[in-house]
Amino acid sequence: MNDLDPALQRVFQTVLDRNPGEAEFHQAVREVLESLNAVVARHPEYVDGSIIERLCEPERQLMFRVPWTDDQGNIHINRGFRVEFNSALGPFKGGLRFHPTVNLGIVKFLGFEQIFKNALTGLPIGGGKGGSDFDPKGRSDAEVMRFCQSLMTELYRHIGEYTDVPAGDIGVGGREIGYLFGQYKRITNRYESGVLTGKGLSYGGSQVRTEATGYGTVIFAREMLATRNQALSGRRVIVSGSGNVAIYAAQKAQQLGAHVVACSDSGGYVVDEDGIDVDLLRQVKDVERGRVADYAARRPKAVHHEGGSVWDVPCEIALPCATQNELDGDAARTLVGNGLLALAEGANMPSTPEAVQVFQEAGILFAPGKAANAGGVATSALEMQQNASRDSWHFDHTEKRLDQIMVDVHQRCAEAADTYGQPGNYVAGANISSFMQVADAMLAHGVI
Ligand code: GLU
Repeated sequence: MNDLDPALQRVFQTVLDRNPGEAEFHQAVREVLESLNAVVARHPEYVDGSIIERLCEPERQLMFRVPWTDDQGNIHINRGFRVEFNSALGPFKGGLRFHPTVNLGIVKFLGFEQIFKNALTGLPIGGGKGGSDFDPKGRSDAEVMRFCQSLMTELYRHIGEYTDVPAGDIGVGGREIGYLFGQYKRITNRYESGVLTGKGLSYGGSQVRTEATGYGTVIFAREMLATRNQALSGRRVIVSGSGNVAIYAAQKAQQLGAHVVACSDSGGYVVDEDGIDVDLLRQVKDVERGRVADYAARRPKAVHHEGGSVWDVPCEIALPCATQNELDGDAARTLVGNGLLALAEGANMPSTPEAVQVFQEAGILFAPGKAANAGGVATSALEMQQNASRDSWHFDHTEKRLDQIMVDVHQRCAEAADTYGQPGNYVAGANISSFMQVADAMLAHGVI
């Protein structure tokens, strides 16, 4: 951990005092503040305007009860959250996560990250996040529908295409967004397409939105490698996770000629030396809602390892696409020892601070999630554009837009890192570039 400038240390102490027990939120704030050491020395106006304190305090935080009835008639009570963190650049924008680990601190860490990620896209979107401690695993479609309807029965009054635009995240995909949209439309009597993104293609969704986070992560890796005159082609790649982000990261890496040999879930990991069969993985996970062990059982050379760490598998490119803090210092040392060249985070904050330090000290190309996984939310903003103009674009056109956005995100990070004397440090570059964009807008808006 690096020391903080005294002004930043004071901000951090306030964050710790005001938000006790929210370890992931503290971690996310600390990382950004460390990058801002270089900025406050040159820009006292951000300190004088209390911009950094204001950035660390959400504009609005919502917590509400979500009651629902299961198929046996039992009543369950979950907790719903929406943290509307910062709207300096546009309406609050960010996903909803349904997972038993969701609590206010997790939602705040994700919402805080989202502010900077969204700024990096160069598109007019603020930052927010939400979700519930509801566990969709093992629930029937009817149960998921009743839960989504109950959640939206409270959430609808807080969101809108000019206010706050939720989308998916872990546990929230096309099925959930469909139920949420249907209930919003029913309660409000408005066909307000732009109120949610990640919608189905039949009712206002965008081409490439499903693929965008994973595709974008690999495009970012491609851009990083290009700075060293390297390419993905022929490289051995590992993705962690096996959800939407992992599946499409694997697909894009394969399209660029890489050899993707492993993926994982909470039960263990699979090594498939024939290369991960993305269509089969999607069938098992998306359609059958099965596990990677079920995938392995249908592939001749695939080996399933129960438990253990996917990061023990040697690779040149690592794409963590599962969840926060899934990759610790030991895993990072193993990866470096096995010849890692580059790592791009498809998930939000999957590497612990110690892991990031290990990668940076070893000179590995390291892309933080807020830069590398920005393609998902960027394509959500493209979905909002299409909805606002009552248009729908073709796949190729949308994919080209995504590609250019990721090239630009990479460029913004690289330039800011250079300008602030840390060439090649994408963590610093991402934090500094996005912070300046949001901070300048906040200064312009006055003390609000
Ligand atoms: N949940 C995704 C993320 O972490 C997407 C958010 C969105 O599309 O609004 O960026």
